Amino acid sequence: MEFLLDMARDWSAHFQRDLFRYLLAATVTSLSVGLLFRHWMDRRRLQKRRASWKDIRREVSFSMLTMAIFATVGIVTGILKDWGLVKLYWHWNDFPLWWNLASLPVVILIHDAYFYWTHRTMHHPKLFKHFHRVHHLSRTPTPWAAYSFSVGEGVLMALFSPLILMAIPLHVVIWLSFIFVMIFRNTMLHAGCEFHPRGWVDGPLDFMTTTTHHDLHHQRFQGNYGFYFTWWDRWMGTEFPNYKEVFHKAVDGEFSSAGAAPEQKPPANPAAS
Ligand SMILES: [Zn+2]
Ligand SMILES: [Zn+2]
Repeated sequence: MEFLLDMARDWSAHFQRDLFRYLLAATVTSLSVGLLFRHWMDRRRLQKRRASWKDIRREVSFSMLTMAIFATVGIVTGILKDWGLVKLYWHWNDFPLWWNLASLPVVILIHDAYFYWTHRTMHHPKLFKHFHRVHHLSRTPTPWAAYSFSVGEGVLMALFSPLILMAIPLHVVIWLSFIFVMIFRNTMLHAGCEFHPRGWVDGPLDFMTTTTHHDLHHQRFQGNYGFYFTWWDRWMGTEFPNYKEVFHKAVDGEFSSAGAAPEQKPPANPAAS
């Protein structure tokens, strides 16, 4: 009985931490778009279509379900830790300085590859309906879509934590930093307005994705599968050919007022690729 109570307390603590980070990131991003930089952002809309309150309610509901899955996988990770299989460390001196400095970029690079390949796999027609359909109900995503997943996708995304924590040693601060980078980047990619400066896709930082990059994925389904970086889409030939053109149109305000944006109809079978 005591064991079950401990587990319930653990589960609740995991859930609350994830909920806090989700609410923080989605609120900060929403306020940036809708309040703090409203005039700037309104000119940089990515679609003429607007998400409804019903869309946002659905995104929040499924995100709560995903965080329940994260908390459950968090319990499993805790058990793996008790068995000595998790390589989290608490003292910076436990590993050389170069690793302490390199480990955050390394975990982001690995997560980027994990995301690209699991995401592209979930677009397989046989898997799409069960794994990824819920995320694509957000045709015009909002920051609240960050964790709006089907159960299968939620489990797949959650599994990254125990797998990476068993594979490479990470300082607790590095791990928490990674989680913050991931959720803030996630809400930015779903913001519906282009955050990145005008010359972004023509300069040296073009290896990093933009809000346009992921928003196009929500509009058209079959391309731009990447998360942090544009590398995988370019290597695998899955970047939309007019990605940069759409980016320029967005920062020039082409989708902000009446007229311009061509609303793409989803293909009859969005999963086909
Ligand atoms: Zn998305
Ligand atoms: Zn997708």
